[in-house]
Parts: sequence; C-alpha cells; structure tokens
Amino acid sequence: EAHLERIESVDPAVHAFLHVDSERALDQAAAVDTKIKKGEQVGPLAGVPLALKDVLTYQGAPTTCGSKILEGWLPPYNATVTQRLIEAGIVILGKTNMDEFAMGSSTENSAYGPTHNPWDLDRIPGGSGGGSSASLAAFEAPLAIGTDTGGSIRQPAAVTGTVGVKPTYGGTSRFGVVALASSLDQPGPCARTVLDAALLHQVIAGHDRMDSTSIDAPVPDVVGAARSGDVAGMKIGVVKELAGEGYAPGVEQRFREAVDQLEQLGAEVVPVSCPNFRYAMPAYYLILPSEASSNLAKFDAMRFGLRVGDDGVASAEEVMNKTRGAGFGAEVKRRIMIGTYALSSGYYDAYYASAQKVRTLIINDFKTAYEQVDVLVSPTTPTTAFKIGEKVDDPLAMYLNDLCTIPSNLAGNASASFPVGLAPEDGLPVGLQVIAPPLADDRLYRVGAALE
Ligand code: GLN
Repeated sequence: EAHLERIESVDPAVHAFLHVDSERALDQAAAVDTKIKKGEQVGPLAGVPLALKDVLTYQGAPTTCGSKILEGWLPPYNATVTQRLIEAGIVILGKTNMDEFAMGSSTENSAYGPTHNPWDLDRIPGGSGGGSSASLAAFEAPLAIGTDTGGSIRQPAAVTGTVGVKPTYGGTSRFGVVALASSLDQPGPCARTVLDAALLHQVIAGHDRMDSTSIDAPVPDVVGAARSGDVAGMKIGVVKELAGEGYAPGVEQRFREAVDQLEQLGAEVVPVSCPNFRYAMPAYYLILPSEASSNLAKFDAMRFGLRVGDDGVASAEEVMNKTRGAGFGAEVKRRIMIGTYALSSGYYDAYYASAQKVRTLIINDFKTAYEQVDVLVSPTTPTTAFKIGEKVDDPLAMYLNDLCTIPSNLAGNASASFPVGLAPEDGLPVGLQVIAPPLADDRLYRVGAALE
C-alpha cells in the first residue's frame, strides 16, 4: 500500500510506470499474508513489491514494449521470469516505461512519453529500461526487472545510482521477453542494494526448457557472494580502452576512487588491453538491427495489437504497411531499415557476416583477459545523465552511451553496474561496471558488495 501511495504521489512527475495494477498487487500481497498466517513456508522476497519492464509478458496485463503497435494486446501467458516472480510471492506493482522495443538509451523513444530521472527531472533515467531504474530511484519500488541487449539494465542503473545486473547469456530465460535481438537479450535484476539484486537474481535465474538458449547449469551462489563482499586476492583488470577522451572527469574520478577502494580491500588491480573493443559498437549496430528486423516482422497487423486501414476492402499487405507505418516510431523504423539492408543478399557478407567476425574477435579479447584476471572493470557510461532532448535528434551521440556496455552482450558474459558516488561537477550518480566470465555471475556481486 505504501508503494502504491508513493506511485500515486510521485509518478505523475517521474512517469516510470505505463500501467499500475493496484488490485492485483494487493491480492498478491494478501495471498502472501495468508500463507504466513497459516504458518506456510515463503521465500525471502515474498510480499516484496516489484516493477516489471513492459517488454516481459504478464498474463492479462497490457504489454506494449513502449510501442503503439502493441496497444490493446493482452498476453495470454506469463514470461518465465514473470512466472518465477509470482511463484516466489513477489508482488507485481505494474509495467514500466521503456524505449520502444528496447531501442534507446534514454527512454525518450517510448511512444508514451519520456520517463524523468528522479535525481533531476530534466534529465534522462537511462534506457531502454528507464522506467525500471527510475521506479527504484524514486522509491516507488524496491525491486525491478530489466532486460539488457546492449546496456539497458546497466546504463539506467548507472545514471540513477542503482544496481543493475545483466546475467550470463542463457542464465535467465528469454521465454516471454518480447525479442529485440535474440542473441544479445537477457533479462536481469535491478534493485537499490547489492543483496536485494542477488536475492532477485536467485529467484529468476536457472534453466528453462522453454528457452532453447537457456543454460542447464547450477545458478552461481550470487547471494553468498553479495553477503561476503570479499575481494581479497581477486585479480581485477581495468580495461585500458574504456577511458580517456569522451569520459567526463567526474565519472573517471569516482571510478578511480572505487578501484582504489578495491585495491585497499586486498584486490590486485592490473591494466588490461582489449584492442578490439573499439569495433564493438559498429558490430553491435549491425547485428542488433539485423536480428531486430527479423524479430519485428511478426507485427503484421494480423496477430497482435494495432490494426490500421482495415476497411474490409484493403489487402492484407496494405493493412500491414499502414499499421507498421503508424505503429512503429522513428528509431524502430531506422533499425528495421538498417537491418534489412545488412541482411540483403548483396550486402550480407560485407556487413552482417563481417560484424559476426568482429564479434568473435571481441570474445577472444575477453578470453585473453580472463587468462590474466578474474573480472574486468570500467565506468558503466562515459557521462552522467544528460538532459532530456539533448541527444534525441542525434542517433550517433545516443549510441555512444553504450560504448562500455556493448562488449559483454556480444560475448554473452555476465556484467553489472554498481553505484560509486556522485560526480563532483554535477552531483549526479556514477556507475562502475564489472564484467565476469560466463557463469561467474557471483563475482559481480562480490565486487559490488565490496564497494557498497
Ligand atoms: N542503447 C542500446 C540500444 O539502443 C541498448 C539496448 C538494450 O539494451 N535494450 O540498442
């Protein structure tokens, strides 16, 4: 009730939520209460409220992915992540705002208007999961779920001073997560503390036979790691390429101080070079649009949501064209065009196939790095939260936000952003990114807890 009241009082200004279902949330809370009164066993997060990114299906609740094209669609099933939340007794407050189909770094690409950063309402809360990060920072919810394809959990966490974790690819199920780029997407936990994130991680992670890329392996002991925070003897590599020009002085300062703190706690800090990281962004912006153009082909006006121009005479193709023209926003159209071009027969080898080769080079950079260190660290983002409207007309400037976060999506390893204080020049939150090898998600929490 307190969280629902908080949403009612601050969300008109923050706009973190697209949809709040008070009745269902209160019913879920009451069900946990009844269980406890009966003396039944409940999990550690039972009764704790959560904000769910609008890209995950939640049976019977609007799921728009921030797009007009899905307006009116009520999913008939729960995503595996959603189902596991419900089974854990977690109370789902509602669905959070996001860049349309998770394309963006500011939540300004939502068809339903931007979300505002609670630290400064004129600034962006990050993206694409800006609704989830803002709901945490505004104390509307203590837990949230995000999805991370190129940084959409970590970058919003960094600019709102919260914790966001992208699990190892295959560590959490993508079943029921509306696909942006299937080889990159990964749902993950968001919270205000490291231990909260770990407890949520444990609820949602683990093998799912409904997702063919789900890994059938035990979930690493993330909660134990979050409780310990012991980094003594850990080898931490500072990525040389993710620093210098373009990085705000306050971001670099807080990052260096945090690394010093890890060193004082007994970690061994060494510089590490990942020479192919500079090609990560161009490779990502070919691979992502290619997969997205294919994934978004299913929005054909027949199966889901919006249907425009169906006058009983128009052909299916005309209705599809009109619906896609009206239903998709500019960024989504841009990426569908780029992806279709990159995949077309005459250009496939030059663009898509080359990008896949670059992807392998990046995976190899990580492999070499992990021969020397246990984890890698960098700033999560080159700058703190920018002003709403500042980069909206400049896609390239917007894409540069993802410089530090993209490599780990391409390689499929685990990574996270933890708050490391405020930049002196503007008083806005700074995030430190930790990247661990696949299936070593526990190391992220060890480092995060050490910094807390
Ligand atoms: N900013 C990235 C993009 O626009 C992040 C996407 C994501 O992680 N969903 O592609």
